[in-house]
Amino acid sequence: MMRLLSPLLAVTVALQFSYALALRHATPVPNPLLANTALPPLARVTPDQVKPAVQSTLAVAENSLTDLEQALSSKLKEDEGPVPYEQILPPLLELYDSYGKPWGLFSHLRAVRDSPQLRAIEDELRPAVVAFGQRLSQSKPIYSALARLNQSSSFASLTEAQQRAVRSELLDRKLGGVALEGAQAEEFNKLQRELSELSSNYSTNVLDAQAAWNMTLTAKDEVKGIPARALEGAADAARKAGHEKATAEDGPWLVSLDGTVMDPVLSYCENRELRETMFRASDTVASSGPHDNSEVLKKILQIRQQNAELLGFSNYDELSLATKMASHDAVTKLLQEVRDAARPAAQKDDLELRDFARSGAEVDGQKLPALEDLQKWDHFFYSQRLLLARYAVDREALRVYFPFPAAIKGLQGLTHRLFGVTLEPVHGEVAAAAKWHADVELFQVARGKELMGYVMVDPFSRPGEKRAGGWMQQLVSREQRPSKQPRLPVAAVMTNFPQPQEGKPSLLSLEEVSTLFHEFGHAMQHVLTVQNESSVSGINGIEWDAVEVASQFMEYWVDYDRQTLFSMARHYETGEPLPEESYKKLLVAKNFRSGTGLLGQVYLATMDLRLHEGYKEGEDPDGIAKAVGREVLINPPLPEGRPLCSFSHIFDGGYAAGYYSYLWSQVLSADAFNAFDTAGNLTVTQALVNFGAQDSKGEDAVEKLGRRWASTVLADGGGRAPEKVFIDFLGRQPSAAALLHYSGLDLPGALV
Ligand SMILES: [Zn+2]
Repeated sequence: MMRLLSPLLAVTVALQFSYALALRHATPVPNPLLANTALPPLARVTPDQVKPAVQSTLAVAENSLTDLEQALSSKLKEDEGPVPYEQILPPLLELYDSYGKPWGLFSHLRAVRDSPQLRAIEDELRPAVVAFGQRLSQSKPIYSALARLNQSSSFASLTEAQQRAVRSELLDRKLGGVALEGAQAEEFNKLQRELSELSSNYSTNVLDAQAAWNMTLTAKDEVKGIPARALEGAADAARKAGHEKATAEDGPWLVSLDGTVMDPVLSYCENRELRETMFRASDTVASSGPHDNSEVLKKILQIRQQNAELLGFSNYDELSLATKMASHDAVTKLLQEVRDAARPAAQKDDLELRDFARSGAEVDGQKLPALEDLQKWDHFFYSQRLLLARYAVDREALRVYFPFPAAIKGLQGLTHRLFGVTLEPVHGEVAAAAKWHADVELFQVARGKELMGYVMVDPFSRPGEKRAGGWMQQLVSREQRPSKQPRLPVAAVMTNFPQPQEGKPSLLSLEEVSTLFHEFGHAMQHVLTVQNESSVSGINGIEWDAVEVASQFMEYWVDYDRQTLFSMARHYETGEPLPEESYKKLLVAKNFRSGTGLLGQVYLATMDLRLHEGYKEGEDPDGIAKAVGREVLINPPLPEGRPLCSFSHIFDGGYAAGYYSYLWSQVLSADAFNAFDTAGNLTVTQALVNFGAQDSKGEDAVEKLGRRWASTVLADGGGRAPEKVFIDFLGRQPSAAALLHYSGLDLPGALV
């Protein structure tokens, strides 16, 4: 019998340990980071509690790992038989849980309530946490036990979810090089270290090169057209650089390659010379001088290829796709299909834009300079004007129709309608203890009388202490051990909406409403899971290229389901619904230049795969990328451009040989929504001015499909192969037709 700590015991031991530490300071308060409550009591966490919590759990986990390794080693030596599932996976998951819990909660707090103090704590603790993670993932006895279980005849008797949990553990470890021996193992580890250093150099070079570039502008003419918000940023940067009196109105302005300045310049600045200078600077960033990435990226490609070969793959594409839903053939087919559909549309977009630029049209009371030779740095600018000329919608002015509380109501309505669940706000002591900030709202998610889990929402921006953007964080994952109560999942949704002002709610843009629905899609998949193994419950264990499906799916309801949109789109003061005219313009504008957009994605995805297809030392990556550009794009890249030198997604991010994932998950989510659309006549109904024409038969079909979505995609999570889950839902293989349809590439104007 193995001597293993149960999770409860592990926590108790850890608690005793931290009590001991705490007692020394004569403050016998239980550490909230170690609490065993349904909702982590994050309101009570103070910075001084982090170190004892993390260190004590690490100490316990070190011992548990040693015990587990000893038990597995003796079992492996004892006989040739398989190591039972119960002796590997549950103890392993307990280990992940026990050492991962305080560290995970701490990382969450860093993202939502950061401070220099927390940053310093992280710097201090990280090396030990990383070292333990490495020891755990490199463990030979664990790998051998998993491998033997996987090959044994008893493997077939495990549930599908258990099989997936074992296989993904095994694959992760194999890709980490655990199966290699002797010189090969040494070589692999050496290359891995080199690779991680190169990736880090790569991103440092990008950041440094971007930071090193700036321009100070003094004449108002030079910045004409740039929106006030960006000019404020540029004046602020100028003040920091020593121009103490700089103002947004009168300058001077310091412009940089940061997206918050660069994008508005390219889209709105009337000064063509500035647009060109900045476009060229960005297109060649980190390609020369002290922050040159040219050789770094060659070396990265070369090492990835070498490592793939050491692990038994023919190239890095193959290695990357081994962990994903898509097969190489399926990706190639998809890229070809989208390219065929998008190219003619992109060609048309291009001609249209050139005609428009040549015409010197008047837009918004202002005459544009007529342009004969439209260049790369003119594309964004003229596209913006064309959009305005065609579908003049002031998107900022629409915010009054989307107060944040109404968006939450819209979500409550949609999740009830589709999945048959209720989202009820929770108040009181437990809620207060769980909320890490006063803005946070807590909802319990129930199906009938059954409590499924919790969603916490942290909606508003807090510059300086909260990370930008929107994301979902799993705080607790569902788990159920035989004859025990299930541990219920907790999902946290973070967004950065404007703070409510006195007497005025936070007013959202339509994009922000979509972001909220997107993140709630992740949260629903995390909370409505029925899986019992924490490594495959909720969003855990879902393949990289399938994890955005449940979230993107929710965005379609904002975009294309009239009932959902109008359930929330009311003026926050007058209660008037969104004007019909604005709604129609929004619908039409959705597919503006969509062919060009899709073709751009095909280009990046194809180039990424081509670069990782068997790179050989001495090959010119830039040449490979340019060849793909000439093949795919309407306007090929500039010969002097070096965009690979700052393509961090694939050189220092998770997207290497995986950039296609964006398109892949869009295909799946569009296909899924299309099933609802067809069955419920949703987009046909939305074309009818007289809302309420929706037939009850269609609504029944929507409800039925919604329940099926919940019982397949949302319930199965990482416990079933996504290609199977998708067929369970749709009854067939996915097809790109729906994505093309919603991009306006099959029936032009069908949705108007
Ligand atoms: Zn997402």
